[in-house]
Amino acid sequence: MKIPTLIVLSALASLPLLTHAETAPPQTFAFETYVGRAYNCLENLPDKEGMPYFNIFWTDPAEAGHAGGIDSPDLCSRMWEASIMARHMTGRTCSNETIFGKNALRFMDPATGLVVPGTAFFVFTHSIAMHAETTAYADSKDPALLDMIRKAADNLPTTYDMAWRSEPIKCLMNGARLANYQPALDYAGKLVHGDSMVGNPNNKKFGGHMHAQMRVLAGAADYALYMKDIALLDQINAIYLNAMSLPGARFGFLRETSRDDDLVGCETCGVMDFVALATTLANNGYPEHWGDVERVVRNQLVENQVVDGSWLKPGDKPDTANASWRNVGSRMVGGFAGWSSPTHMLAYREDDHGRTRAFQNCCIGSGIQAFYIAWKSASRFENGVLSVNMHFDKLLPQAEIRCYQPYKGYLSVALNEACKVRVRVPDFVDAKDVKVSSNKGEVKVAVENGYLELGPRQAGEKIEVTYPVPVKEEEIASGNPKGHQYHYRVTWKGDTVVRMTPIGEQYKTGYSEGMKKDVDCFYGEEGPGRLYQREEMLKDVTPALAQLHADDGAIDFWQLHAK
Ligand SMILES: [Zn+2]
Repeated sequence: MKIPTLIVLSALASLPLLTHAETAPPQTFAFETYVGRAYNCLENLPDKEGMPYFNIFWTDPAEAGHAGGIDSPDLCSRMWEASIMARHMTGRTCSNETIFGKNALRFMDPATGLVVPGTAFFVFTHSIAMHAETTAYADSKDPALLDMIRKAADNLPTTYDMAWRSEPIKCLMNGARLANYQPALDYAGKLVHGDSMVGNPNNKKFGGHMHAQMRVLAGAADYALYMKDIALLDQINAIYLNAMSLPGARFGFLRETSRDDDLVGCETCGVMDFVALATTLANNGYPEHWGDVERVVRNQLVENQVVDGSWLKPGDKPDTANASWRNVGSRMVGGFAGWSSPTHMLAYREDDHGRTRAFQNCCIGSGIQAFYIAWKSASRFENGVLSVNMHFDKLLPQAEIRCYQPYKGYLSVALNEACKVRVRVPDFVDAKDVKVSSNKGEVKVAVENGYLELGPRQAGEKIEVTYPVPVKEEEIASGNPKGHQYHYRVTWKGDTVVRMTPIGEQYKTGYSEGMKKDVDCFYGEEGPGRLYQREEMLKDVTPALAQLHADDGAIDFWQLHAK
């Protein structure tokens, strides 16, 4: 195998941070670009002990504040896991990776393997921490981590009567697969068939908290694949399709939770678990969902990343044990929205003890993980076959894949070794409108299950695929059944939203059930951090090639096989 050394060896050490005043020249879509930007937040936001702040308050000046119980094991674990994933994606080690790991493990009880008693949202938080441990073990193969994973699987059944009991299914399945540990599998099965969303085999409807429930479903899908339970997998797929029918889900506006008031917001953590479920299904028998993953990633996930924190006013007060006011807006650049609207970084002003929460920083680690999950599967090489599942740039030891969407309908595959090649036809293209050429002569194309089957190809071959990228508009309405509806004209160019135009009445306030009063909301043109400022994407130009880093094949919990 030949890896293009120049690209692989150049770690993505100094990706530029954009400010609102700058417009980047058009570049190909590389996951490495977005994850590279997140290092600013991972390295500069935490306090001097390496402890991340859970809350960012929209005060004057903006305040980063610890939140007691939740920001300790939960945030340290998420950022530890995200740092490990980011290192595999970019080749660069986050300066806080070690301290995040130490801090995360400080909150784990070595006797039980569970997070320490008294932690807020105990079982939920444990599921986050144990998932990070499985990622860290897949990375380091440290036997002490494996010991903790086994102990946790032994002791989790003691938490069965507690809230959030079904959350650990996915981390138990990671443990069952990595450690080949039967008690982890057994307890995952008990949770799947208990009172989880799939416990009643007749349920086909999605509901509840997006982050929590998508996480349960991603775990249940893993269990169904392990057990070869096709009926269970089909049920999970039906619930997935129901979630996809929610307004805005097509471009990744996945509401945080079902609520009856005027307010809807998109939490990046929910987007992450959605990507995990969709990717698991698409990799394992439901390839029709690749288009969903591609649209969610290209649109709301990208827009949820902070590129301009200037709406958070800077301060220079010295830090206290619990809070920091130093340049919080610029330290948040690279982080991710906790409650975005289709047009703004923050959807509404809901307060915590009189202060508006601008961000909840569970979403920083989750945003990075969402990009990682999609990156692993964008193109895959397995058993002598290269599958280009999504039209994103991807560097593998066997091939370099480049795509010019949304600027042009162009994808190239440069092969370093002989293999069969298949390329998914984007959802917006008819296969007959796709043209394929090669520097090694004519390519015979067959279309099967939504893929162009290009047959055996040679090392040194460069295949080029071109297709039209039509611009289309649709109108959607988002909101809650008993509340306001917010209307948008969504302009698509291929799978990319290039314009999000609020239409109809633009409400300035909406009723918050949580606060029992009207609060400011940002679903129209006015508000903090306008999203979808993408007019340049309408241009028909050739983008510059973004810097890539080769996938080394490590840490993959979403391409699953039965045992
Ligand atoms: Zn979150």
